[in-house]
Amino acid sequence: MNTHKAILFSAPSGCGKTTIIKQLLKHFDCFEFSISATSRAPREGERDGVDYYFLSHDAFMQRVADGQFLEWEEVYPGTCYGTLKSETKRIWDNGHVIVFDVDVNGGLNIKKYFGNAALSIFVMPPSVEVLEQRLRSRGTESEEAIVKRLGRSAEELKQSPKFDVTIVNDDLDTAVTRTKQVIEQYLQA
Ligand code: ADP
Ligand code: 5GP
Repeated sequence: MNTHKAILFSAPSGCGKTTIIKQLLKHFDCFEFSISATSRAPREGERDGVDYYFLSHDAFMQRVADGQFLEWEEVYPGTCYGTLKSETKRIWDNGHVIVFDVDVNGGLNIKKYFGNAALSIFVMPPSVEVLEQRLRSRGTESEEAIVKRLGRSAEELKQSPKFDVTIVNDDLDTAVTRTKQVIEQYLQA
């Protein structure tokens, strides 16, 4: 029974959340991705209403004022991200398990809110050096944005013990296999 369950992934930017989630969405038919709202600009290839709901800063703050977010964070100075209440309702109404990709604070807040209805997974890089390499080789951010992201990562990595499970993303196939195992256990419980 998948009723009202959620899997949430948190980690510093570049640890591999999106990569792992894409594989899981193909594997678990009952999974549906929670599309967050953000005030950042789309990257090449990202689509509005698929990867994110892309909003202007003012439109984002209007939704904050209207109480539309379950949680939201100014993840980087001037750039906000948030989970819309309507998104969780939509996915549960579809009878699906929600998959969240959120920053570490957002993950802890969602876990607090959902309790046992959510499995919280922290994606750990094999080392800080590899994290930096991956963030750079992804090639999606300016140098300034990379520095901002790396600047946050040390504090975020310290929060890993607060999550239900930590997955080390060294070899991707191993990480995906291990993630599938813990999710299957959780869904059967
Ligand atoms: P996040 O969503 O956590 O910001 P991404 O999934 O975008 O991270 O991954 C960051 C970069 O690292 C991407 O270019 C991705 O292809 C690469 N990557 C992810 N996991 C691995 C892995 N296990 N080994 C090598 N490269 C990886
Ligand atoms: P990116 O710009 O790389 O897509 O995302 C940057 C960070 O914002 C990532 O850590 C991602 O998990 C986080 N993020 C994405 N959506 C949300 C959200 O709805 N809430 C919170 N708190 N963080 C989010």
